[in-house]
This record gives sequence, structure tokens and C-alpha cells, in this order.
Amino acid sequence: MSIYNITLIKGDGIGPEIIDEAVKVLDAVAGVSGLEFNYDEALMGGIAYDITGDPLPQETIAKSLNSDAVLFGAIGGQKWDELPREKRPESGLLRFRKELGVYANYRPAVVYDELVNASSLKPEIVEGVDLMVIRELIGGIYFGEPKGRDENKGWNTMVYTREEITRIAHHAFKIAMKREKRVCSIDKANVLDVSQLWREEVEEVAKEYPEVELTHMYVDNAAMQLILNPRQFDVMLTGNIFGDILSDEASMLSGSIGLLPSASVGNKIGVYEPIHGSAPDIAGQGIANPIATIASASMMLRFALGENEAADRIDAGIKQALSEGYRTKDLAQFDAKEICSTSEMGSIIANYAAKCKL
Ligand code: NAD
Repeated sequence: MSIYNITLIKGDGIGPEIIDEAVKVLDAVAGVSGLEFNYDEALMGGIAYDITGDPLPQETIAKSLNSDAVLFGAIGGQKWDELPREKRPESGLLRFRKELGVYANYRPAVVYDELVNASSLKPEIVEGVDLMVIRELIGGIYFGEPKGRDENKGWNTMVYTREEITRIAHHAFKIAMKREKRVCSIDKANVLDVSQLWREEVEEVAKEYPEVELTHMYVDNAAMQLILNPRQFDVMLTGNIFGDILSDEASMLSGSIGLLPSASVGNKIGVYEPIHGSAPDIAGQGIANPIATIASASMMLRFALGENEAADRIDAGIKQALSEGYRTKDLAQFDAKEICSTSEMGSIIANYAAKCKL
């Protein structure tokens, strides 16, 4: 029996609802895969501010660093939007990523065969899409100095060092080796000096992976190509802001933002979270799609704990639930046989994941 300590950060809005379902599924596969999970909850975001006055209490960092992995819901909401910047939930999240040193964000965008009609693009464009965005997460314009504003001006700086580019590029090439061995590096090297360095350094790293085909694409073209012909991509390597935008765009290929997981890794402890936010507009109604969070738990099993069989079970459970026609409200109009609540979807996936034959 392998025992793992998982920090749960439920956060705000739909965060608690979707994390509860991921825990349900984890516990279901634990039973059949010979695993045990000890969960420890920690506060972050608006709820942490309300209780402690800080959106990222020190205790949350300490608990996370002492665990095997962090499973994260979502933070934020209008209630906290007027707070000074450093007290806002989003600042807590940026600080958390920095404290944990999770500089590499993996965002798969996969179109499930069962949901090929759910995309806003034509089925023949999105069918078979299976791409991975590797986004640099703790550098670039979101963190660069100088930054500031006065009455008439606001400014931020996009900075990358060779070291930051090298370490994220290695993630992209390593994951490409396990996939179709193609990396497309995204930049704006025709305009930005920082992108010229990015391109130069990615070329250097590529020399260590001769089997991987490297191409470069300007970010504006990449935004277009993702809509025009998304199947051309295997691994997309991006800086922070470009990846933020492109991975949200890529998420829509799949039909709902409620489907897509992510992993943020770097130093020792990784953070596994859906790519969506706290969806305050649907919080508390029991209609949120828990699949992105359940799939994030699967990534946690695979990446952080090396429990591939249990991860395969979860992935199979999600697929079966979709192919049997179960849909949460966001996907209700796409070949649904039965509309289910957040909690029902969690139970259905848990049941299939535990029973599936691999
Ligand atoms: P959002 O992702 O929360 O919601 C965008 C839209 O998608 C909404 O209509 C929402 O109802 C829907 N949606 C999101 N997740 C869904 C799910 N699982 N199932 C069904 N529908 C879902 O983005 P937003 O509205 O721009 O932001 C809301 C709050 O979340 C803001 O405070 C923002 O700062 C925060 N946010 C947090 C994170 C994070 O915690 N990592 C990420 C993005 C945004």
C-alpha cells in the first residue's frame, strides 16, 4: 500500500464543489489500486483573505511544501475585486506559484471523440486534436521589473533570462519525446528583443533532442493557426503571457473550459488544477463541470506520484461517462443522454474508474 499526503486547496466559487468530486474519484481508485491518500486542507484566495487577512497564508505554503502534491480548485470573485492588489486572491496565486517554484505549466488540450460536436469549430477541424501547451509560469511580463503606474501611464516589462528559457524548453522537448516529437516554439521575435533571446536559446536546447522537430511561430500567427488547423500542433512551447492566452484559446477546441486540466511543476512539489477560474456565476448551483479537476487529479497521479495505473483508471472513467452520454449543463446540448449535477458526474466517473478493466 502506497500512502500519499495531498494538500487540498479548494479556494472560492465552484472550487470546493469540484475538489470534492476529484477527491471522490481519487478515493474510488485508491480502493482498487492499493493506494491511500491523506488529505490536508489549506486556505487560499478570497476565503483565505476573509479568514486570515492574507490571500496566501504562510501556513498554506508550509503545508504544500510538506506534502507530495497540491490539488487546487480555483480562487477569486467580484467580492474581492476592489481590494488593494496585494490582498487580491489572484496575487495570492501568483505568489504561491513563485514560492513553490512551479515554473512549467502543462496544459493539454484534447478533443474527446464523444464531444466533437461541442466545439465552436467544425467537427472536421477539431476531430483528433491532442496538443500540449507548455507555458512558462513564473517569469515574463507578469513578473518583470520595472512595473508600475502613475496618473497617465502604466508599464510592465517582459524579461526572460537564458536560464529561465532553457529550463522550460527542456520540459517541452522531454514531453515531446513521449508524444509525436514535434515542438513549436511561440514568440514575437520579429518585434521583441526578449523573443529573439527566447528563439536563440530554444535552438540551443533543441540540439540535445535531435529526434524532435523544432519549428518557430509568431504568436499572432499561432492564434490564427490554432483555429485554422489545430491538428498541426503536438507540443507548443510558450512564455507566460502568450501561453496564458493561447491555452485558453486551445481550451475552446474541446468544447468547454470545464474539461481541461493542468499541471504546474518545477521544483519538488507540483500543483494540479483545472484551467478555469472560480466561475462565480454558477457557484453553489451544483452545475459546474468537475471533469477538468478530476483530470487534474489524474495528472497528479501520473506526474507527481508515478501511479500510472490509477491515472489510467480515471482517464478511462471520464471517457466512459462521456461516451455513455452523461453531461453537465455546460455540455447539455451535445449528444446528451442524461444531464447530471456536479456531484452526480463525480459519482459516475468514480464508479467507472473503479470498475474499468484496463
Ligand atoms: P472562469 O473560468 O471562472 O469562468 C468563465 C466562464 O466559464 C463562466 O461563464 C463560467 O461559468 C464558465 N466555467 C468555468 N468553469 C466551469 C466549469 N467547471 N463548469 C462549467 N462552466 C464553467 O473565468 P472568469 O469568469 O473570467 O473569472 C472568475 C474568477 O476566477 C475571477 O475572479 C478570476 O480572477 C478567477 N480566476 C481564477 C483562476 C484560478 O484560480 N486559477 C483562473 C482564472 C480566473
